[in-house]
Amino acid sequence: MLSIGIVGLPNVGKSTLFNAITESAKAQAGNYPFCTIEPNMGVVEVPDKRLYRIAELEKSRKVTPTFIEFVDIAGLVRNASKGEGLGNQFLAHIREVDAIAMVLRCFEDPDVVHVEGTVDPVRDAQIIDLELIAKDLETVSKRIEKIEKMARLGDKKAKEELEKLLYLRNILENIEPVRKHKELPVEISEYARKTLFLLTIKPVLYVANVDEEGLLGNSYVDNVIKYAKQEGAPVVVICAKLEAELVSIPQEERKELLSAYGLEEPGLNKFVREGYALLNLITFFTAGEKETRAWTVIKGTKAPQAAGKIHSDFEKGFIAAEVINYEDYTKIGSISKAKELGLVRLEGKDYEIKDGDIVYFRFNV
Ligand code: GDP
Repeated sequence: MLSIGIVGLPNVGKSTLFNAITESAKAQAGNYPFCTIEPNMGVVEVPDKRLYRIAELEKSRKVTPTFIEFVDIAGLVRNASKGEGLGNQFLAHIREVDAIAMVLRCFEDPDVVHVEGTVDPVRDAQIIDLELIAKDLETVSKRIEKIEKMARLGDKKAKEELEKLLYLRNILENIEPVRKHKELPVEISEYARKTLFLLTIKPVLYVANVDEEGLLGNSYVDNVIKYAKQEGAPVVVICAKLEAELVSIPQEERKELLSAYGLEEPGLNKFVREGYALLNLITFFTAGEKETRAWTVIKGTKAPQAAGKIHSDFEKGFIAAEVINYEDYTKIGSISKAKELGLVRLEGKDYEIKDGDIVYFRFNV
């Protein structure tokens, strides 16, 4: 399962947000098909109204959503890369996640101390990036040291790798996170991601943590939005405190509290969906009387590989996929009816699964 690490300076609301996530995960525990979860990990349902709508229309006896994992990464402080606070340890945890949610404090509260003395979310984001950059520089420099000699002696492979390393070092020395670098050659980005596991190449989602009044926006949020725009990164505005409150009250009362703030759904839902999109994930469905279920694949996945998510036999013996997209489906309201009307397409092995596809795989083994 792909995972998102929650990072941020102390006292910005990370734990509050993470607790809201795990509380809502607990409430969904019945749905969760796996068992033990580590304390700093929370696995939550990806909220998707389409799933429940399909299940209702198909009169499914069981509904199974898809999940995403969040990891609470505590301990990031200024100079952590130099050993401050929990030091280097947390950086190793960031290495293991697929994307980063950077929680930025966008609320004022004299009772909550800010480690930097003032509220300034953009500065905070830059401090975090600085730590990640320092760690990446260390990674790159170590590797350079290791292969430099071989490259100098004429080893072709080492030479090629050294070139990539020098390219990356140059970016990092300019205090630029690798993900922000424009026109990064594909082979260097692949190398940074898959061989070096650099931290600053991971996609980032900015979480502007506001107080209740800030839900309609405030100047801190405006600054975060402007800042995120430079790199085309998404921003989610959330009031972690309100989210924590929401998960602590009965389901029936939540709607009322939400509408008191002019919200249609918990900010957590948006956060989870944005995280999912950040990871380049899409959802397809299988549907029937027995079960309607959501499945996750990376954008661009072809039908046989999507089938393989369900069962390896489905991929091996793949013949074709019967497909109708959710948008078309809801106009008809029944798969069998859509079939009668000839609206279910038959797709072959080169078909790329689209978000919202309802699929029935034909296979033989
Ligand atoms: P962490 O150190 O980043 O994990 O921060 P915490 O989640 O422990 O939050 C630090 C303090 O800020 C706690 O006292 C929270 O109750 C408070 N806090 C978190 N979110 C909000 C918010 O949206 N508004 C206000 N006023 N306080 C908040």
